[in-house]
Amino acid sequence: MVFIRDPCGIVCLIFTYGAVIYADYVVMRWIILTTMPMSIWAPFHVVFFNTVVFLLVMSHLKAVFSDPGTVPLPADRLDVSELHTTNSNKPISGNGHGSEWTVCMRCETYRPPRAHHCRICKRCIRRMDHHCPWINNCVGERNQKYFLQFLVYVGILSVYSLALVVGSWVSPCTKCSENIIEKQFVHCILLMFEALVFGVFVTAIMNDQLYAILHDETAVEAIQQKGAYRLNRRKYQLLTEVFGHGHPLLWLLPCDSVSHFARYQEIPLLSHEV
Ligand SMILES: [Zn+2]
Ligand SMILES: [Zn+2]
Repeated sequence: MVFIRDPCGIVCLIFTYGAVIYADYVVMRWIILTTMPMSIWAPFHVVFFNTVVFLLVMSHLKAVFSDPGTVPLPADRLDVSELHTTNSNKPISGNGHGSEWTVCMRCETYRPPRAHHCRICKRCIRRMDHHCPWINNCVGERNQKYFLQFLVYVGILSVYSLALVVGSWVSPCTKCSENIIEKQFVHCILLMFEALVFGVFVTAIMNDQLYAILHDETAVEAIQQKGAYRLNRRKYQLLTEVFGHGHPLLWLLPCDSVSHFARYQEIPLLSHEV
Protein backbone atom coordinates (compact mmCIF):
# COMPACT_ATOMS: atom_id res chain seq x y z
CA MET A 1 0.00 0.00 0.00
CA VAL A 2 1.28 3.45 -0.88
CA PHE A 3 0.27 6.93 0.23
CA ILE A 4 2.03 10.03 -1.08
CA ARG A 5 2.32 12.96 1.33
CA ASP A 6 1.58 15.69 -1.20
CA PRO A 7 -0.55 18.60 0.14
CA CYS A 8 -2.14 19.28 -3.28
CA GLY A 9 -3.09 15.60 -3.65
CA ILE A 10 -4.55 15.44 -0.14
CA VAL A 11 -6.68 18.57 -0.77
CA CYS A 12 -7.92 17.00 -4.05
CA LEU A 13 -8.83 13.77 -2.20
CA ILE A 14 -10.86 15.68 0.40
CA PHE A 15 -12.54 17.72 -2.35
CA THR A 16 -13.41 14.53 -4.32
CA TYR A 17 -15.07 12.85 -1.33
CA GLY A 18 -16.82 16.11 -0.35
CA ALA A 19 -18.28 16.34 -3.88
CA VAL A 20 -19.44 12.70 -3.90
CA ILE A 21 -21.03 12.97 -0.42
CA TYR A 22 -22.79 16.22 -1.40
CA ALA A 23 -24.16 14.69 -4.64
CA ASP A 24 -25.48 11.67 -2.70
CA TYR A 25 -27.06 13.97 -0.08
CA VAL A 26 -28.85 16.12 -2.69
CA VAL A 27 -30.12 13.12 -4.65
CA MET A 28 -31.37 11.25 -1.55
CA ARG A 29 -32.72 14.17 0.50
CA TRP A 30 -33.78 16.79 -2.05
CA ILE A 31 -34.70 14.75 -5.12
CA ILE A 32 -35.87 11.27 -4.10
CA LEU A 33 -37.35 12.05 -0.67
CA THR A 34 -38.88 15.35 -1.81
CA THR A 35 -40.25 14.62 -5.26
CA MET A 36 -40.92 10.87 -5.28
CA PRO A 37 -41.37 9.56 -1.69
CA MET A 38 -44.21 7.19 -2.65
CA SER A 39 -43.07 6.34 -6.15
CA ILE A 40 -42.12 2.82 -7.18
CA TRP A 41 -38.97 4.37 -8.73
CA ALA A 42 -37.66 5.65 -5.38
CA PRO A 43 -36.12 2.36 -4.12
CA PHE A 44 -34.75 1.66 -7.60
CA HIS A 45 -32.94 5.02 -7.69
CA VAL A 46 -31.70 4.66 -4.08
CA VAL A 47 -30.14 1.25 -4.83
CA PHE A 48 -28.80 2.10 -8.28
CA PHE A 49 -27.35 5.51 -7.38
CA ASN A 50 -25.63 4.16 -4.26
CA THR A 51 -24.25 1.17 -6.19
CA VAL A 52 -22.56 3.56 -8.62
CA VAL A 53 -21.25 5.61 -5.66
CA PHE A 54 -19.90 2.41 -4.06
CA LEU A 55 -18.11 1.33 -7.26
CA LEU A 56 -16.74 4.86 -7.72
CA VAL A 57 -15.32 4.89 -4.18
CA MET A 58 -13.88 1.36 -4.49
CA SER A 59 -12.11 2.09 -7.80
CA HIS A 60 -10.87 5.42 -6.42
CA LEU A 61 -9.46 3.82 -3.25
CA LYS A 62 -7.76 1.15 -5.38
CA ALA A 63 -6.21 3.84 -7.61
CA VAL A 64 -5.07 5.83 -4.55
CA PHE A 65 -3.53 3.02 -2.52
CA SER A 66 -2.26 0.66 -5.24
CA ASP A 67 1.39 0.63 -6.13
CA PRO A 68 1.37 2.21 -9.62
CA GLY A 69 4.41 0.09 -10.60
CA THR A 70 7.31 1.47 -8.57
CA VAL A 71 10.70 0.33 -9.85
CA PRO A 72 12.47 -1.42 -6.93
CA LEU A 73 15.68 0.08 -5.59
CA PRO A 74 18.78 -2.11 -5.76
CA ALA A 75 19.85 -3.90 -2.60
CA ASP A 76 23.35 -2.43 -2.91
CA ARG A 77 23.80 1.21 -3.85
CA LEU A 78 24.91 1.70 -7.43
CA ASP A 79 28.04 3.63 -8.18
CA VAL A 80 26.57 6.25 -10.51
CA SER A 81 29.27 8.89 -10.00
CA GLU A 82 30.60 8.31 -13.50
CA LEU A 83 27.16 8.44 -15.04
CA HIS A 84 26.43 11.85 -13.50
CA THR A 85 28.69 13.38 -16.11
CA THR A 86 27.09 11.51 -19.01
CA ASN A 87 23.58 11.32 -20.37
CA SER A 88 21.45 9.25 -18.00
CA ASN A 89 18.84 8.64 -20.68
CA LYS A 90 21.33 6.90 -22.89
CA PRO A 91 20.16 3.29 -23.13
CA ILE A 92 22.30 0.66 -21.49
CA SER A 93 23.19 -2.20 -23.78
CA GLY A 94 24.25 -5.74 -23.04
CA ASN A 95 22.08 -6.13 -19.97
CA GLY A 96 19.96 -8.96 -21.28
CA HIS A 97 16.89 -6.76 -21.54
CA GLY A 98 17.43 -5.28 -24.94
CA SER A 99 18.86 -1.81 -25.23
CA GLU A 100 16.16 0.28 -23.60
CA TRP A 101 17.09 0.11 -19.92
CA THR A 102 18.29 3.42 -18.53
CA VAL A 103 19.70 4.67 -15.24
CA CYS A 104 17.72 7.07 -13.03
CA MET A 105 20.12 9.49 -11.36
CA ARG A 106 17.62 10.46 -8.68
CA CYS A 107 16.72 6.90 -7.63
CA GLU A 108 20.23 5.72 -8.49
CA THR A 109 18.84 2.57 -10.02
CA TYR A 110 18.37 0.86 -13.37
CA ARG A 111 14.92 1.22 -14.81
CA PRO A 112 13.13 -0.82 -17.49
CA PRO A 113 11.85 0.62 -20.78
CA ARG A 114 8.95 3.06 -20.42
CA ALA A 115 9.62 3.72 -16.73
CA HIS A 116 9.86 7.40 -15.78
CA HIS A 117 10.81 9.29 -12.65
CA CYS A 118 8.00 11.08 -10.80
CA ARG A 119 9.16 14.11 -8.83
CA ILE A 120 6.16 13.95 -6.49
CA CYS A 121 6.39 10.20 -5.73
CA LYS A 122 10.21 10.56 -5.79
CA ARG A 123 10.50 7.16 -7.50
CA CYS A 124 10.59 5.69 -10.98
CA ILE A 125 7.22 4.30 -12.09
CA ARG A 126 6.78 1.61 -14.75
CA ARG A 127 4.84 2.80 -17.76
CA MET A 128 4.12 6.09 -16.00
CA ASP A 129 1.36 8.10 -17.64
CA HIS A 130 1.15 11.13 -15.35
CA HIS A 131 0.95 12.03 -11.68
CA CYS A 132 -2.70 12.70 -10.87
CA PRO A 133 -3.53 14.84 -7.80
CA TRP A 134 -7.14 13.55 -7.89
CA ILE A 135 -5.90 10.10 -6.86
CA ASN A 136 -2.82 11.52 -5.07
CA ASN A 137 -0.76 8.92 -6.93
CA CYS A 138 0.91 8.25 -10.23
CA VAL A 139 -1.11 6.66 -13.01
CA GLY A 140 1.13 3.78 -14.04
CA GLU A 141 1.22 0.20 -15.23
CA ARG A 142 -0.51 -1.30 -12.21
CA ASN A 143 -3.26 1.19 -11.36
CA GLN A 144 -4.32 2.66 -14.71
CA LYS A 145 -7.25 0.23 -14.79
CA TYR A 146 -8.62 1.60 -11.49
CA PHE A 147 -8.04 5.18 -12.60
CA LEU A 148 -10.08 4.57 -15.77
CA GLN A 149 -12.83 2.85 -13.78
CA PHE A 150 -12.96 5.86 -11.47
CA LEU A 151 -13.39 8.16 -14.50
CA VAL A 152 -16.16 5.94 -15.92
CA TYR A 153 -18.11 5.94 -12.62
CA VAL A 154 -17.74 9.71 -12.18
CA GLY A 155 -19.09 10.06 -15.74
CA ILE A 156 -22.05 7.73 -15.04
CA LEU A 157 -22.83 9.51 -11.76
CA SER A 158 -22.72 12.92 -13.47
CA VAL A 159 -25.17 11.89 -16.22
CA TYR A 160 -27.40 10.14 -13.67
CA SER A 161 -27.45 13.21 -11.39
CA LEU A 162 -28.30 15.50 -14.30
CA ALA A 163 -31.16 13.20 -15.34
CA LEU A 164 -32.54 13.16 -11.77
CA VAL A 165 -32.33 16.98 -11.53
CA VAL A 166 -34.21 17.36 -14.83
CA GLY A 167 -36.75 14.74 -13.64
CA SER A 168 -37.36 16.68 -10.41
CA TRP A 169 -38.19 19.78 -12.45
CA VAL A 170 -40.48 17.91 -14.83
CA SER A 171 -42.51 16.41 -11.96
CA PRO A 172 -41.97 18.72 -8.96
CA CYS A 173 -43.30 18.25 -5.43
CA THR A 174 -46.90 19.43 -5.35
CA LYS A 175 -47.45 19.33 -1.57
CA CYS A 176 -44.20 21.04 -0.53
CA SER A 177 -44.05 24.50 1.04
CA GLU A 178 -42.42 27.46 -0.74
CA ASN A 179 -39.46 27.21 1.61
CA ILE A 180 -38.79 23.55 0.73
CA ILE A 181 -39.16 24.19 -3.00
CA GLU A 182 -36.68 27.09 -2.79
CA LYS A 183 -34.11 25.01 -0.92
CA GLN A 184 -34.55 22.12 -3.34
CA PHE A 185 -34.01 24.45 -6.28
CA VAL A 186 -30.72 25.81 -4.87
CA HIS A 187 -29.35 22.29 -4.14
CA CYS A 188 -30.40 21.07 -7.59
CA ILE A 189 -28.64 24.01 -9.30
CA LEU A 190 -25.44 23.31 -7.30
CA LEU A 191 -25.63 19.59 -8.14
CA MET A 192 -26.21 20.37 -11.80
CA PHE A 193 -23.17 22.65 -11.86
CA GLU A 194 -21.05 20.00 -10.09
CA ALA A 195 -22.21 17.24 -12.46
CA LEU A 196 -21.51 19.35 -15.54
CA VAL A 197 -18.01 20.34 -14.38
CA PHE A 198 -17.01 16.81 -13.35
CA GLY A 199 -18.73 15.24 -16.36
CA VAL A 200 -16.88 17.41 -18.88
CA PHE A 201 -13.61 17.02 -16.97
CA VAL A 202 -13.68 13.20 -16.84
CA THR A 203 -14.87 12.91 -20.45
CA ALA A 204 -11.81 14.90 -21.56
CA ILE A 205 -9.38 12.82 -19.45
CA MET A 206 -11.03 9.54 -20.46
CA ASN A 207 -10.69 10.53 -24.11
CA ASP A 208 -6.95 11.20 -23.62
CA GLN A 209 -6.48 7.96 -21.68
CA LEU A 210 -8.21 5.77 -24.27
CA TYR A 211 -6.29 7.49 -27.06
CA ALA A 212 -3.04 6.82 -25.18
CA ILE A 213 -3.88 3.14 -24.58
CA LEU A 214 -5.07 2.47 -28.12
CA HIS A 215 -2.02 4.22 -29.58
CA ASP A 216 0.28 2.50 -27.08
CA GLU A 217 1.81 5.75 -25.91
CA THR A 218 1.74 7.22 -22.40
CA ALA A 219 1.30 10.96 -21.75
CA VAL A 220 4.99 11.18 -20.81
CA GLU A 221 6.02 9.55 -24.11
CA ALA A 222 3.67 11.80 -26.09
CA ILE A 223 5.43 14.85 -24.60
CA GLN A 224 8.86 13.35 -25.28
CA GLN A 225 7.66 12.38 -28.78
CA LYS A 226 8.89 8.84 -28.42
CA GLY A 227 7.02 6.73 -30.91
CA ALA A 228 9.33 3.74 -30.67
CA TYR A 229 6.92 1.68 -28.61
CA ARG A 230 4.15 1.71 -31.18
CA LEU A 231 4.33 -1.83 -32.42
CA ASN A 232 1.03 -1.73 -34.27
CA ARG A 233 -0.57 -4.18 -31.90
CA ARG A 234 -4.25 -5.01 -31.97
CA LYS A 235 -6.50 -2.62 -30.05
CA TYR A 236 -8.09 -5.42 -28.02
CA GLN A 237 -4.66 -6.63 -26.92
CA LEU A 238 -3.70 -3.09 -25.84
CA LEU A 239 -6.88 -2.84 -23.77
CA THR A 240 -6.26 -6.21 -22.09
CA GLU A 241 -2.83 -4.96 -21.02
CA VAL A 242 -4.58 -2.35 -18.90
CA PHE A 243 -7.78 -4.13 -17.90
CA GLY A 244 -6.54 -7.72 -17.62
CA HIS A 245 -7.46 -10.79 -19.63
CA GLY A 246 -10.87 -11.36 -18.06
CA HIS A 247 -14.13 -10.94 -19.94
CA PRO A 248 -14.71 -7.30 -21.03
CA LEU A 249 -17.81 -7.26 -18.78
CA LEU A 250 -15.44 -7.62 -15.80
CA TRP A 251 -13.24 -4.71 -16.87
CA LEU A 252 -15.25 -2.23 -14.83
CA LEU A 253 -15.07 -4.17 -11.56
CA PRO A 254 -12.54 -2.62 -9.17
CA CYS A 255 -10.80 -5.86 -8.21
CA ASP A 256 -7.53 -7.57 -9.12
CA SER A 257 -7.49 -10.27 -11.73
CA VAL A 258 -4.78 -12.92 -11.56
CA SER A 259 -3.94 -12.71 -15.23
CA HIS A 260 -3.81 -8.92 -14.99
CA PHE A 261 -0.79 -9.07 -12.75
CA ALA A 262 0.85 -12.14 -14.23
CA ARG A 263 3.06 -10.05 -16.47
CA TYR A 264 4.37 -7.97 -13.58
CA GLN A 265 5.99 -10.90 -11.92
CA GLU A 266 9.15 -10.74 -14.00
CA ILE A 267 11.67 -9.32 -11.55
CA PRO A 268 13.88 -6.70 -13.12
CA LEU A 269 17.54 -7.57 -13.32
CA LEU A 270 19.21 -5.05 -11.06
CA SER A 271 22.80 -6.12 -10.84
CA HIS A 272 24.77 -5.83 -13.98
CA GLU A 273 27.77 -3.89 -15.08
CA VAL A 274 27.42 -0.56 -16.80
ZN1 LIG B 1 13.80 7.65 -10.54
ZN1 LIG C 1 3.85 10.32 -9.00
